[in-house]
Amino acid sequence: MSAFFKNVITYIKNLINGDEYISDRTKVGYTMTAISFIHVLIAIFFAFNENIWLCLYNFVSFGIYQLLMELAKKKKYILTTITASIEIIVFVLVTSFCIGTIMRFNLYCLAIVPGIFYITSTIKDFKGRTLFPFVTSIAAMLTYVTSLLFELVHDPIFVVEPSVTTQLVEIFNVIISFIMMIIFSLLFTWEMKNNSAALEKRNQQLQQFANRDPLTKLPNRRSMMQVLNVSMHELQRDNAPFSVILGDIDDFKKINDNYGHDAGDKVLVMVANTITSQLRDCDSVCRWGGEEILIIIKGDLEAARNIAERIRLNISSSKVEHGGQSMRVTMTFGVAQAKAGDRIEHLIQQADNRLYYGKGHGKNQVVDQNV
Ligand code: GH3
Ligand code: MG
Ligand code: MG
Repeated sequence: MSAFFKNVITYIKNLINGDEYISDRTKVGYTMTAISFIHVLIAIFFAFNENIWLCLYNFVSFGIYQLLMELAKKKKYILTTITASIEIIVFVLVTSFCIGTIMRFNLYCLAIVPGIFYITSTIKDFKGRTLFPFVTSIAAMLTYVTSLLFELVHDPIFVVEPSVTTQLVEIFNVIISFIMMIIFSLLFTWEMKNNSAALEKRNQQLQQFANRDPLTKLPNRRSMMQVLNVSMHELQRDNAPFSVILGDIDDFKKINDNYGHDAGDKVLVMVANTITSQLRDCDSVCRWGGEEILIIIKGDLEAARNIAERIRLNISSSKVEHGGQSMRVTMTFGVAQAKAGDRIEHLIQQADNRLYYGKGHGKNQVVDQNV
């Protein structure tokens, strides 16, 4: 028993955190169970009051809800919801016709409104049937008005004298109708909130996906352009220096040719991880192109050159194992410091020119001057 309560508490906690969703089956199933239970209570009440017809009527309704529960299990949500709405409307008309509105059984019409909006807007089967909740709600309103008008023009079939019992039943009906309205409204608000939170999360994931290179998990060129623009802005506004390091793997084509493309991919991942591990939080790195990496260093040329040198040594001393073979790579780097008012394209071009010089002069080196 304590395990059962623990499960219930975990379920509620998960619901609140948005980790758990109320399934369509639970939604419709529990609603049908609740209504059938109310019908049983009403049937028992009429049995005590010796109103055999209304007692029978409510037992038949109880039977209908047993069928509806089975339909809900078979995922026939539209049929279940329409039948239940009609049943409630007919129930209000029958009770008003038989005993009048003295015990306010007509209040159940009000509970239909939030219930129908909640169910139809959260269950996928109802997608595109936007008129349905409006039509049902208007039918419920007209039923309520009819129950009041009917009393004006016609005496009920069974005359019920006001008593403590009728007063208590009226209170019961008021409470149950309000509870249903509150629960449906709460669920509706909660589910809408959860949906927009889930959408937000999904958007963030998509955003990350769009800004990252799937192989190395490094940011891609597009997202790095934003960092470069911000850094340039900070340089102009606060005089905060920054430099770029453009790195390119040496003879990478040979790695692919000799060991295969998968081996090349492994090398790229190693390079990305090694570089990331050498950077401070304030620096950024991206996969600029095929086997080209661009690093932004918050610092002057000297600081950037030192970091590039450290990275170069780390990469040249790292090994990548693939298919029982061990591979080593080196990298050449071009470093340039940004000047206020400089164009980003010009800054990158400068680093690229220095990288190009290094490639032509022995590779595996850091070049930080125009030569
Ligand atoms: P250099 O020292 O002059 O840079 O020579 P290199 O062979 O590294 O340069 P080149 O531009 O001739 O070749 C780059 C190679 O990088 C060719 C391309 O197939 C490979 N490459 C680019 N992206 C990837 C990738 O994602 N995975 C793998 N395995 N190879 C890639
Ligand atoms: Mg290369
Ligand atoms: Mg290249």
